[in-house]
Amino acid sequence: MSRPPSHSRGVTVDYLPVFLSITGRRAVVVGGGHVAARKVEALAKAGARVRVVAPRLLPQLAERAASSDLEHVAAEFSPEHLDGVALAVAATDEAGVNRAVSRAAQARQIPVNVVDQPSLSTFIFPAIVDRSPLIVAVSSAGGAPVLARRVRAQIEALLPARLGRLARFMHERREKVRRALGALARRAFWERIAGGVTASRVLAGDEAAAGEAFARELLNSQLRVSEAIGGSPLGEVYLIGAGPGDPDLLTLRALQLLQQADVILYDRLVPDAVLERARRDAQRIFVGKEPGEHAHQARINELLIELARAGKRVARLKGGDPFVFGRGGEELEVLAAQGIPCLVVPGITAALGAAAGAGIPLTHRELSHSVTFVSGHAAFEGSLDWRSLARPAQTVVFYMGITQLPRIVARLRAAGAAADEPAALIEQATLPGQRVLRSQLASVAEVGRREQIGSPALLIVGAVAALAAVERVPAAPGAKTTSSWEGQADRSIAAP
Ligand code: SAH
Repeated sequence: MSRPPSHSRGVTVDYLPVFLSITGRRAVVVGGGHVAARKVEALAKAGARVRVVAPRLLPQLAERAASSDLEHVAAEFSPEHLDGVALAVAATDEAGVNRAVSRAAQARQIPVNVVDQPSLSTFIFPAIVDRSPLIVAVSSAGGAPVLARRVRAQIEALLPARLGRLARFMHERREKVRRALGALARRAFWERIAGGVTASRVLAGDEAAAGEAFARELLNSQLRVSEAIGGSPLGEVYLIGAGPGDPDLLTLRALQLLQQADVILYDRLVPDAVLERARRDAQRIFVGKEPGEHAHQARINELLIELARAGKRVARLKGGDPFVFGRGGEELEVLAAQGIPCLVVPGITAALGAAAGAGIPLTHRELSHSVTFVSGHAAFEGSLDWRSLARPAQTVVFYMGITQLPRIVARLRAAGAAADEPAALIEQATLPGQRVLRSQLASVAEVGRREQIGSPALLIVGAVAALAAVERVPAAPGAKTTSSWEGQADRSIAAP
């Protein structure tokens, strides 16, 4: 007894997903409104010769018909409009017309889509993510278009903007690789290209560097084949700013690289919620150092080099931005000296996260014309110009200054800053435990002590610190107000 062929078993699908070549062929759109215009656009983009059938056209369609190869038939639909046509779309708001188009097209074996009516259609338009020549199509078989669009949006965020460039870059080199490598080596080679330095250079917009990386990889692969040498290819390091804490404040590029990294080295400031956005099977290594622990940095540098030499794609994840009090510059230098490719991805620095979270604009047309980021740590090593920091009409943000609050205040006051200069402490900015304490320069150290402000926290000094999204009306003298929104306590504490 013969068994049924295996392909006939299992779950069936409602639609066959295909990509249709329609270049140079005739397509008909019935209807002259906005929906029709979108379909005309999609068909023309795919190279179809489009005929629009509608008594009247939207101005944008009429313009197009007058100036381009769009053919306009100014009439009610009739079946002969489908003569010689490869594809038909009905996009009118008249049910009778849509049905007539569907019937006529099906009688002639022409694929037809009636917008938003799968039952009258023989094909449907998927939601697409367009990274031409790479296209992702999503469909819910017409049953839940909103869901399909959401999935599309999620994929949109994950796919780098220059993915199409990468597809072309690889296409242009296919022949060369085919000549250089055997079938088995080829597959492994392309895998390395798509997931390694070459790809990340193209995606970052540096095709010259990508070209060099590609040439190196190809040479390596040829050597490995001809001499059967072992060893893994060189990996790379991504120096990624993780932002101030809220995972939704990661950049798209940070997210994309976290999805492809093999190993993640992360700091104390990077919360679990951010790590959860990384590739599930990536190895995670905590390299958080206590403040002032200097020998530690050398060990981190060694680890980065060692992992990259072993061929790993290493994400070095740092709080905020890697180049703002993050020692990113030092790591970059060390890696460059070793010839290890490194990509820097900026992050939202804590000052920006805190400002947004607290509703404090860092500059303001009337109140503040510049903003300075100061390391509270280094503030007493003698290089800071306290007199310029104490001047009015500016904003000064102190990072790593919480344990030094009394000294910072004393220095600013001695350099001429007013006792009632507005000041704000922001603890755990953008995180669920965010606290904003508003006060004045003369009292801010005492407020910080009394409220037991802990790390991480920032001090913002300047007139803008008195502004707040949640507190437009000045509080009565001596008043202590507490308000909250979405679980973020915002407390305003007047000077005692
Ligand atoms: N590279 C980081 C800064 C590292 S220095 C950046 O660009 O943000 C560490 C200091 O950053 C902390 O002492 C604190 O002052 C500040 N900081 C980092 N995250 C913070 C947060 N979520 N809320 C308040 N301050 C933060």
